[in-house]
Amino acid sequence: MALYVQKFGGTSVGSVERIHAVADRVARSRAQGHDVVVVVSAMSGETNRLTSLGHEVAEEPSAREMDVLLASGEQVSVALLSMALTERDCPARSYLGAQIAIHTDSNHTRARIEDIDVTSLRADIDAGVVSVIAGFQGIDAEGNLTTLGRGGSDTTAVAVSVALGADECQIYTDVDGVFTADPRIVENAALLERLTFEEMLELASLGSKVLHPRAVEFAGKYGVPVRVLSSFGEGPGTLITTEEGTMEKPVVSGVAYSRDEAKVTMLGVPDIPGVASKILGPVGKANIEVDMIVQNVGADGSTDFTFTVKREDYAKAIRLLEPLKESLGARELIGDDRIAKVSVVGVGMRSHAGVATEMFDALADESINIQMISTSEIKISVVIAERYLELAVRAIHTTFKLSDGQLMEE
Ligand code: ADP
Ligand code: ASP
Ligand code: MG
Repeated sequence: MALYVQKFGGTSVGSVERIHAVADRVARSRAQGHDVVVVVSAMSGETNRLTSLGHEVAEEPSAREMDVLLASGEQVSVALLSMALTERDCPARSYLGAQIAIHTDSNHTRARIEDIDVTSLRADIDAGVVSVIAGFQGIDAEGNLTTLGRGGSDTTAVAVSVALGADECQIYTDVDGVFTADPRIVENAALLERLTFEEMLELASLGSKVLHPRAVEFAGKYGVPVRVLSSFGEGPGTLITTEEGTMEKPVVSGVAYSRDEAKVTMLGVPDIPGVASKILGPVGKANIEVDMIVQNVGADGSTDFTFTVKREDYAKAIRLLEPLKESLGARELIGDDRIAKVSVVGVGMRSHAGVATEMFDALADESINIQMISTSEIKISVVIAERYLELAVRAIHTTFKLSDGQLMEE
């Protein structure tokens, strides 16, 4: 007898058939005697459709109104799933984020959950009712609807798990679990049986969209085990949990990538104190997240200053910096919004030199130019031209022998 929070993603509830399949699965867990609380995403494609609608109506739609718009996607799926469960004599009740008081800050379109009132959820569990919660949304202190950023339903599920003290948070998706690389790019990627929170957080933050980074951060902080598994088949999936003493530490556990990157370069700025803050200050103030930063000093006492941002923020960053060019004494402002980031992650890297060289060799063998590099104890990231992304991911995956069947032999 356990308490499970089961989250179903967009593809898993993407049609009437899929909603029935999910209802069967939830009803089965109930029949086995488990208590279940469900979190769902909008039906697949719906959040994209709503986002495009907003941008068709307004060039820069208000973030508050975008949240009202986007939150409607999940309203449809919670209602449909609750109906499907009730059809199976499995009593269910749907809840929007605001109804069960998923309190967030007021950061529209990227809000953070602050707390959840579990009174109704507890009452449902006691009464044998399955609560079906709309993922990805909440309400701020002023009563405004908020959303948690793309992929945020995972975070709702983990937050509900923490608030209820669930035994496991099960993230049902359209692949069998977490693989050594995106199985849609690397055909022979291997399914990972277990991962530590630390590794998964790194993979998710570096672009592996199978889990929302904040969900992993939350789960790690409160020690809630998370299992990623398929809603289309059976199988244990991937268990993400704290590191165990006996657990083997692979040098590289996986390859992650992020396609939505862009870089901005201020060429020929004088190499004097304060330049970096003058360039990045306005960018930060505009709430644009900066990722990698590189500064090269030229022989003539000037420097080239480059940083990366999300592709959606590229135009805004250029617009902000254009007027600063002259006052900074820069020669030119240039950029490229067709770059991508590829990373390798592994806790075993800490004790292994030479991982970076192996990665760079793999890219050189494919004649892929590295534009930027950044490293930490457990990851190495490179920026390359977007058109080489798939090739790079496959080459790196092969170099580290991550393919199915090879992991065990190592
Ligand atoms: P959901 O709608 O269920 O939340 P997502 O599309 O958000 O599903 O996440 C699942 C997708 O993540 C998979 O279809 C897969 O293409 C992608 N993905 C990227 N990296 C990985 C990885 N390392 N392991 C598994 N899936 C990955
Ligand atoms: N429906 C939202 C999205 O597409 C939230 C989620 O799927 O997690 O991003
Ligand atoms: Mg997702």
